[in-house]
Amino acid sequence: MIVAGIESSCDETAVSFVKDGRNVLSSLVSSQISVHQPFGGVIPEIAAREHLKSVSYLWEQAMKQSGLCESDIDLIAVTRGPGLAGALLVGVSFARGLSISLDRPLIGVDHVHAHIHGALLGLPPDTDIAELFPAIALVVSGGHTNLYWMEDPVRFRLLASTLDDACGECLDKVARMMDLGYPGGPVIEKMAEKGQRGRVSVPTMLPGKEYMAFSYSGLKTHMARLWEKNQGFQGQDLNDLILAFQDEAFGQIRRKTDLALEQLQKEDKYPRSVLVAGGVAANQSFRNIMSGFGNGVRTWFPALNYCSDNAAMIAALGCYEYQELQRSGKSLPDDADWDIYPRYLYS
Ligand code: AMP
Ligand code: MG
Repeated sequence: MIVAGIESSCDETAVSFVKDGRNVLSSLVSSQISVHQPFGGVIPEIAAREHLKSVSYLWEQAMKQSGLCESDIDLIAVTRGPGLAGALLVGVSFARGLSISLDRPLIGVDHVHAHIHGALLGLPPDTDIAELFPAIALVVSGGHTNLYWMEDPVRFRLLASTLDDACGECLDKVARMMDLGYPGGPVIEKMAEKGQRGRVSVPTMLPGKEYMAFSYSGLKTHMARLWEKNQGFQGQDLNDLILAFQDEAFGQIRRKTDLALEQLQKEDKYPRSVLVAGGVAANQSFRNIMSGFGNGVRTWFPALNYCSDNAAMIAALGCYEYQELQRSGKSLPDDADWDIYPRYLYS
């Protein structure tokens, strides 16, 4: 089954063609980072307008790259949410137009859930995906810090999410406050590499085992207070501070994943893998912290081009969800029921 994926939830327009949920035939991403950079963050209306400029061009280029013709496409998958409303509407309207003109079914998928499929793309072709499940899955991005229990590739049981800021958001906000650049994650990674441990300490967030949740606003405020009091942090001192900050930002995720493993064990549930996805999963220190769970549990990360937003992950999840709908005899939503959703559906 060949699935076309369309993504436009934030500041990347993306189109991809994926065969059988695994084999990426083409994946193109047009990033708007340089357009938003002068503002230090994403401006929603500008994002929507940029998607409108890029989406049909990307479609044509991805079509050429894949060597497919439009009649080869079996299904169109598009991000329905969460994301910026205006930005989502561009991708969804484009996808609906395609669905009508090509006479192919259209499935809307959740962007956060799709990130997990980023970790599954690029596995050796002979990997049987079913053997990776059940799994603990984490999406650590600019908008979300979600931890799931997954029995299979389409069922997501949310075990923990953030009470306030997302991990990537915290990295971005702290970098912005310190005038380090945007997006903050990659800059912080570079500075932390030069830092030395044990020279600065930052508080531990939600240390108690009773909290199956993440929190980043206290860490962000701690950094803001330190910065207000002592803007003299520079050179090695600044690198040491950034390393301590990054260690806590990521250490918290490891602690909560260990806690989730403990709690699942009480329910007699044993994951075979930990799947870690989202923009922050590009960070090598984070990858090190999130590896080594023992008991044969292996951690999988996306290839770097599938950490950040892309449409291959949208096509992949769309493929598995469509097959599941067919297996269970359910139908796709009626045309009139189509809508986008800006916020993650926590229910
Ligand atoms: P996403 O929301 O999935 O598009 O990812 C964007 C987020 O990932 C932003 O918060 C970035 O700061 C963060 N990010 C990107 N690259 C890295 C990196 N190398 N280390 C840490 N965070 C990163
Ligand atoms: Mg994303």
